[in-house]
Order: sequence, then structure tokens, then C-alpha cells
Amino acid sequence: MRPEVLNPLFAEVETLDGVGPKLKKPLDKLGLERVRDLLFHLPERFVARRSVADLDAAEVGENIVVPLTVTEHRAAPTRRAPMRVLAQDAKGNVCALTYFGKAGYGAKKDLPLGEKRWVAGRLDQYGQMLQIVHPDHVVEDSAALSDRLCEPVYRLSEGLTQPRVASLVQQALGRRPNLAEWIDPALLAREVWPGWFDALERVHAGEDAKARERLAYDELFANALALMLVRASNRRRKGQSLQGDGVLTGKLVLPFPLTGAQKRSVEEIRGDMAQEMPMLRLLQGDVGAGKTVVALMAMLAAVESGAQAALLAPTEILARQHFENLRAMVRPTGVEIALLTGRDKGKARESILMGLLDGSIDMVVGTHAIFQETVQYRNLGLVVIDEQHRFGVNQRLLLTQKGRRTPHTLAMTATPIPRTLVLAEYGEMDVSRLDEMPPGRQPIDTRVVSIERMEDVAAAVGRHIEGGQQAYWVCPMVRDSEVTDLAAAEARHAVLKERFGAAVALVHGQLAPEVKDAEMARFVSGEARLLVATTVIEVGVDVPTATLMVIEQAERFGLAQLHQLRGRVGRGADKSTCILLRGEELSEVGKKRLTLMRETQDGFRLAEEDLDMRGGGELLGTRQSGDSVFNVATFEDVARWQEVANDDARLLVEHSGGDGTSLTGARGEAARTLLYLLERDWGVALLRGG
Ligand code: ADP
Ligand code: MG
Repeated sequence: MRPEVLNPLFAEVETLDGVGPKLKKPLDKLGLERVRDLLFHLPERFVARRSVADLDAAEVGENIVVPLTVTEHRAAPTRRAPMRVLAQDAKGNVCALTYFGKAGYGAKKDLPLGEKRWVAGRLDQYGQMLQIVHPDHVVEDSAALSDRLCEPVYRLSEGLTQPRVASLVQQALGRRPNLAEWIDPALLAREVWPGWFDALERVHAGEDAKARERLAYDELFANALALMLVRASNRRRKGQSLQGDGVLTGKLVLPFPLTGAQKRSVEEIRGDMAQEMPMLRLLQGDVGAGKTVVALMAMLAAVESGAQAALLAPTEILARQHFENLRAMVRPTGVEIALLTGRDKGKARESILMGLLDGSIDMVVGTHAIFQETVQYRNLGLVVIDEQHRFGVNQRLLLTQKGRRTPHTLAMTATPIPRTLVLAEYGEMDVSRLDEMPPGRQPIDTRVVSIERMEDVAAAVGRHIEGGQQAYWVCPMVRDSEVTDLAAAEARHAVLKERFGAAVALVHGQLAPEVKDAEMARFVSGEARLLVATTVIEVGVDVPTATLMVIEQAERFGLAQLHQLRGRVGRGADKSTCILLRGEELSEVGKKRLTLMRETQDGFRLAEEDLDMRGGGELLGTRQSGDSVFNVATFEDVARWQEVANDDARLLVEHSGGDGTSLTGARGEAARTLLYLLERDWGVALLRGG
């Protein structure tokens, strides 16, 4: 049960003054549903303003507060044009206060003719005229702005304004209780971190590295602790020893010998599965390293021991592809394998559910649908989670622990994430690494080409597909704006289709699953030669005959993502090419990314570089997918603090008896509150008495 002291923070935002149905929607959009969400909605930056007596004392581009007297209201001449209020400073300098669209409605009222007002905003120049576009504040009394010389800037959604969000945050701050300290006092003292109560106030008031770092540490610590409790609970559970007698694996006819790394991983996994304690292992291997066959060997071991195995894929496309692949491979063994996705309905679904319940189906491949309540297994012995490089794996691992006997779990990731990130994401998990690629892979010829040469690139794509080969064309995903992304992908598709005709297919996240699958199928079968796509093709898609990839605005992608995307080509025997189309204006980081991509194909190296370059406060997890686990912690925080947080969490568990069923003492109690506060309830759920 959530400690009562947190109740005010878990109240809905509607309980705050001024929040009605109209504000609810834009707040929801930002994920601000409860009071606590506002507390952790940290400013993206701060504006610092200078108070000046007149405009002569200010620089163009500067944020200022200045007293002005209103001289003229100039209505917008056309609907598109802005409305302007002209005003003079004490020396007679004229400045236009410019309002576009609806923003102009209130301006006349706020700025009556002949009156003096204090105006806060960024001073710009428009032609010969000084102007302030959409002033941040217009007030009658200078005192109202004197404490606003440093102001937070929050992420907004349509229908919200900075002052509105700021005032809601202040209300939320007013409701926060003073909580007992959960950080080790020695650490707190050494780092000179403020307590939680003060830290929150400070991060909303101005740049404050210590306060921010403390809150970031809270997140890392809470996550580490929750994962540790999962881990401990796992250790307490009874699984089943699945030895495997080799009968089925013996019948397997693989077209290639396993690599050394594959053999080693299979041994590690089967060694774990032979134990009664449920396995919790991560298989890390670059794209194309051959994780599927390793998973298959593990799944066969389960079936050989009379248990069932399930493979969870993140998308329908991948589930289908795995199913086809595995079905072909297990054919000589006589193993029964089924595909189950959210789209299976009626009789077909019923018969699969029956088969899983009575045990006539040995293996199932599917999306999360395979873990719905209605799906019951006779004896689920192994769960494989594919392409699980996204945050949120923790909950999934838990999901798999529902059964009577806990199944063994193998998580697979194609992102060769560095150790500190493994720690942050999975906690202290056993790791097997496929650090050796199957033989015969050709390096991918990677080139960086300016967008100005689009025509040449399109022509090259044309020659490629007319020569009978296949290609990908990847359109960028812009953060926070799925709509424009889609428009871009659709527009590009239209252009290419006009040029190349029916040979062009299109997939993106918003397509109906049937349409998406049909388009994918057209590409896989070779009927379509060019696949235009957003990053939905990032994970796992395997079409070995595709040997050319164009990535538009490649500088917008992270290194890890580019690496994943590029991994879609170079899978067959033929030489592959990857063209990174870059925009005209390239940041330093963008430039470095593209250079690295050209230089190396080593996933582990790219991952390390990625981590280094992500400085600059980039959050973990992607906003895109909306499942970022941390609100405050950045990659830098993880690199700096994750190991400390893990040690701290471990000590706390050990001092509480060590078996992970309780958190005792004042700090233990405080940490328990923290888990609720930061929504690591799934960790607390494992404690005795919740
Ligand atoms: P990933 O690790 O990206 O999931 P896959 O399991 O899809 O990689 O394997 C990529 C390709 O490599 C597949 O076509 C697979 O058949 C092939 N492959 C896997 N292991 C070997 C091996 N030991 N030797 C040669 N080819 C292999
Ligand atoms: Mg794979």
C-alpha cells in the first residue's frame, strides 16, 4: 500500500486551482496527470533577464525587462499578419510588441493606449524597428517582475502557456510533504546534496547542478533497488531444472556451424536452465550476430525437458518473421510451433489457446498477446524476449513470473549497450555476449552524401532496383511530432512511387497492422523492390537480398539507432551500401556521428561513443516511445552514478536481512516510500506485505 504521506502527490491535477476539463487535455499530452508529475516536470532551461531603464541600455537578442508607454495599436492587416502594439521608452525609442494569431486578442487589454507597462521578453530587430515578439510578461507594477529575472522554461503542449505551467508547478510544490531521507547520509554529505524537499524547489527556481543531480540519483537508486528486489524475489522462487537430453537439437539441420561465441552462449544459457533457480540472462549481440539460433537452442532444451517455450517479439512484423524462421528450422524435429498475436481472433485463436493449455503446442511466438491473462500454458519453462533494448523490460520480466513455477527468462538485445547502461536498464543481470560475427560478412560501404545531391541518389536507387536488387529508404522521425514525420514519409513515398511505380512499398507506425504486414510481405517476397519506411524497420527485420539503404537526414538519428538501421543491410552474400543523406546544416555532434558511422561497424565501439556523445543532458529512453523511465537522470548521470546507486541499493537490501523480502530501519522505510513516489511499485510488490 502506498504510504499515506504521498496521497497529496498522487491526487489528480484537477485538484489544483484552475485546472478544468480544458487544461486537462494539454496536460495529459505531456504526461502530467497527477500532482507528482508536475513536480518532476523539470524546466528545459531558464531565461535570465536584465532589467534596463531604456532600450539604449539593451542589446538586440537580449532578454530584458523594460518600462514602455503604449502609443499605438496596429491591427493585423491580414489574417496571417501579426498585430503590433507600438510603445516608447523613456528616451523616445520605439519598440513594437508583436503578436501572431490568437495571441493578439488579450494584447489591447493588457496594453492600453497611453499607459506605462513593464514588459519582459527578448529584444529583436525587425527591419529598422526594435520589437519584442510575444512578450513573456506585461505588468503594471515593476515589483511583479523584479523576482522574475530568472524564469524556468517548461516543455509545453498546445493550450498551455509558461506562466500557467509555472503556477501549477508552484501549487504542486506547495503540496509536497517533507519525506524522510533515503540517501545514505555519508554520500549526501560528501556530495553536498540538498534534501529531497529543498532539491525540488531549487530545480524549479534556477540552474542548480547539485539539486538536479540529487534528484537524478534518486531515480537511479530507486530503479536499482526495485530491480534488486525483483532479482532477489526471483532467487527465492522455484523454477524447474530443464536439462534437455539433446534429442531434438540432435535432429536439427543447420545450414552453418555455430560460431564460437554462439556455442559459448548456448552453453551458458543451458547451464542456467539446468538449475532450479530461474534464469535471468541477457544475450547481447549486434545485429546479424545470430541471436535467433541461440534462442532456438535454448527453446529446444526446454521442449526436450517436457516444458514449453515462448518467444516475445516487440512487433507483429518481427513475430511473424521469427515464426517463419523458427518453423522452418524446427521442421525436422517435429516440434509444434504456433504464432499468436493480438490480431488472432475466433477459432484460430481458440485452437492455439487450447494447444498451449493441453501442451500439444511446444513453442509459441508472438507479441505481448502471449502473456494475456486468458493465455494459459500447461508448463511454460522458458520465455525469450527479443530485441528488448527499450526501457520497460523490467515490467516485462515480472510479467513472466506469474506462473506457478517461474519460467527461465532470456532477454535478447541487439544494442551492444555498455555495462553501465545494462546496469541501469536491467540491474545486475547475467550477460552472454555474441562478440563474434558469423563468417563471410562483408563490410557495408558507408557514404555520407549531402541532401543537395538527392537527385543523384534517387538515380542510383533507380539503377539498383532496376538491376533487380532491393533497397530501403528510411525517413527520419522527428521528436515530438509524429504527424509531420508521417507526412514526410508519405510525401517521400509519393515522390519515389511516381518515379519507380508499383515497386515501391511503404511502412510506418500508423498503418493498420494488416496493411503494414501486406506491405512488408510485398517487400520480403521481392515483389516490391524499394521499401520506404520510418524507423519501424529498426528492429530485427531480415531481408538478406536488400543491399542498399538510404537514410534521410541521418544526422538526426543517434549512433545506436543508425547502427541498428544499417544492420538491415549487409545480411546476405552480396556487397551492401549505406548512404547517409545529410542535411545542409550539420551540428558538430551530427558531423561526428556520421564520421564514426563511416569509420566503423563495431557495435560495441559505436555504443560507447554514443554514450560519450550523448552528454548535454540527454534523457535516457526516448520521448518518442513515451516510455522513458527517468525524468531527471541523463546519460551522464548514469555513467557517473549508476554503480554507486547499485552498491547503495545492495547494502540497503543486505542490512534488511538480505533476502529482499523487506526493507527495514528508517532508511529502509524511506526507500520504500521512494519506490512508490517514483512508481517502482512493481519492486515493492515483492516485499512481504507489499
Ligand atoms: P540477430 O542477432 O540480428 O537476431 P539473426 O539471428 O537474425 O541475427 O541472424 C542473422 C543471419 O545470420 C541469419 O540469416 C542467420 O541464418 C545467419 N547466421 C546465424 N548464425 C550463423 C552462423 N554461425 N554462420 C553463418 N550464418 C549464421
Ligand atoms: Mg534478431
